[in-house]
Amino acid sequence: MINLESFIRNIPDFPKPGIQFKDITPLLISPFAFREVISQMTKPFRSQGIDKVLGIEARGFLFASPIAMELGAGIVPVRKPGKLPFETISHTYTLEYGTDTIEMHKDAVSPGDKVLIVDDLLATGGTVEAACKLVESAGGVVTGISFLVELAFLNGRTKIDGYPVHALIQF
Ligand code: AMP
Repeated sequence: MINLESFIRNIPDFPKPGIQFKDITPLLISPFAFREVISQMTKPFRSQGIDKVLGIEARGFLFASPIAMELGAGIVPVRKPGKLPFETISHTYTLEYGTDTIEMHKDAVSPGDKVLIVDDLLATGGTVEAACKLVESAGGVVTGISFLVELAFLNGRTKIDGYPVHALIQF
């Protein structure tokens, strides 16, 4: 058994005081640990007929792409405003101070598509909740959500109640 937690590096006070940043780059440079993570993040969603894997900018892309290949699904990038070249749909959500917006190409998810949402980390849940709304506004079905890390003390799961959520490591 491999201790995946040992591949996550804690960086205190990054990017600002009080934040304990979970740095996943030690995991990325270990081919064995990364392969194991992709296998475990994919496992609960095999045989679910996933059509699209949606990755959230930017670290989500690193996990969504190999998971999509494992599942034989397409990959959909969800990005910050102004990054995607074609026509987009967007969703704006509230942060502690102010708002944030995420976008996706309007033809990325088709009505009835079964979508798996992937990100590196669940914190307050605002980002992934917005991603669920984007998928649903395109007529897609959020079939699952897969994270590497969950900061359980922030209770992000309450925002995505009712969806099948899987996280490999809890802090
Ligand atoms: P949230 O919307 O609060 O759930 O934030 C989730 C997004 O912010 C994810 O895309 C994470 O990559 C990033 N994030 C939030 N908090 C942290 C943290 N402590 N360490 C690393 N990434 C974080």
